[in-house]
Amino acid sequence: MTVTLEKSVEGFIATPRQLFIDGRWVDAASGKTFATPDPATGETLAHIAEADAEDVDRAVRAARRAFEEGPWSRMSAAQRGRIIWRIGDLIDEHAEELAQLESLDNGKPLAVARAADVPLAADLFRYMAGWATKIEGNTIALSVPYMPDAGFHAYTLREPIGVVGQIIPWNFPLLMAAWKLGPALATGNVVILKPAEQTPLSALRLAELIAEAGVPDGVVNVLPGYGETAGAALAAHDGVDKIAFTGSTEVGKLIVHAAAGNLKKVTLELGGKSPNIVFEDADPELAIPGAANAIFFNHGQCCVAGSRLFVHQSRFDEVVEGVAGIARGIRLGRGLDADTQMGPLVSDEQLRRVTGYLDSGRSEGARMVAGGERHGERGYFVQPTVLTDASPDMKVVREEIFGPVVVASPFSDLDEIARQANDTSFGLGAGIWTRDISKAHLLARKIRAGTVWINCYNVFDAGLPFGGYKQSGWGREMGHEALEAYTEVKAVCAQL
Ligand code: NAD
Repeated sequence: MTVTLEKSVEGFIATPRQLFIDGRWVDAASGKTFATPDPATGETLAHIAEADAEDVDRAVRAARRAFEEGPWSRMSAAQRGRIIWRIGDLIDEHAEELAQLESLDNGKPLAVARAADVPLAADLFRYMAGWATKIEGNTIALSVPYMPDAGFHAYTLREPIGVVGQIIPWNFPLLMAAWKLGPALATGNVVILKPAEQTPLSALRLAELIAEAGVPDGVVNVLPGYGETAGAALAAHDGVDKIAFTGSTEVGKLIVHAAAGNLKKVTLELGGKSPNIVFEDADPELAIPGAANAIFFNHGQCCVAGSRLFVHQSRFDEVVEGVAGIARGIRLGRGLDADTQMGPLVSDEQLRRVTGYLDSGRSEGARMVAGGERHGERGYFVQPTVLTDASPDMKVVREEIFGPVVVASPFSDLDEIARQANDTSFGLGAGIWTRDISKAHLLARKIRAGTVWINCYNVFDAGLPFGGYKQSGWGREMGHEALEAYTEVKAVCAQL
């Protein structure tokens, strides 16, 4: 049974959407628009104004004015915090509407958008609202060798970086917008946010809520558009002081090059190929569904997807068969259908990418224990897939697939598994399943990744810092660590 759309959602997608610049809804300077498709059918869902360099320029000027002239920069931290808290509350008040938009645009099951994307986004804003009043510096005792008799009062201030460009992907469109906007606003920055071209809808609705919450004009600007045009222009713009990017490692490297022009600050949340490790003493009731959730949640379109499953050789067949059984039983369907457990991939491009990896795995000799094919002829569905018999140099083992495809391999001992887990250019997430608490913590220290989950996976909280080692990124989002990435430190030194 398909869920009936809220009237507000019907109205939202029926109206061509514009860019949000300086508190106003405007057409793109070029007059161009693009269509966002429904991934379950491939048919057009909505028409959106398409930003490019000229619009980026307009938004940067508006943001600069908002940063320098206020009222945002003159507000007390408590006032800013109240406004940010209000954004969280407005997300809750419009939860069903936002969940429907997210499910329509991204393809994810409505139940997932309701249970995860929307409440996590609301929580993130409230968590960051609390930090607005707690951005503190230090006082520092000086002992300057060449001024032995002088007395000083020295302290640090944490100040906003300024105009921040934020570029986000399509896998958790609303939540990624929240991860980016929350800490930027809590620390007093102003923002130009570019949502992914595949999923611009929830960020545009969020912009309306942000204005309703009382964020002044020009503080948050939202520019849907393509990466090579709007995204590249934002990353390269001399008027932007910092760029925060979430997306592929490949594009992350382009961002670093583009940012070099004015040496803007850069933070990156990039790809992963995360190991999920099941020991011989793991509780199968937890570890088997846990390993399935680690890869199949959000159709494997998670940067932390547990896409390399390592199982102790003594339990390999049991665990792999358990995960394969879950894979075979997952009901695929439209995100808005009430009994759907896995929706379509986000786009035709993503479908081709994932099926390309399935072909590559097959031709290199991997064995498909479950799935392995496209599902149906309409929309962008792929069967949840479990591969075995893969060697460490195969593309399906080394590269991020970003789809519901897991490669399972056996291991024999802790040192060997630490080496295998770290045998990747990425370092985003990892999972460990065992009843032996020492073994779990010992291995957690050996793994080079930004998040290690023990007897759980895909647990996110606004207070837990998130980010990557190695080529999975620079910096952290969420937690108080995120605030550091949005502030400059000023040392003030006065001779007394
Ligand atoms: P992508 O890198 O193609 O696109 C991400 C964003 O960058 C989009 O908004 C896109 O328009 C923009 N973009 C593309 N080319 C650009 C360019 N040349 N200059 C500036 N911006 C550009 O990635 P994707 O396919 O949309 O998303 C999937 C990838 O994102 C995966 O690799 C995944 O691991 C990663 N991801 C990482 C995290 C994380 O937190 N680490 C979270 C979600 C997704």
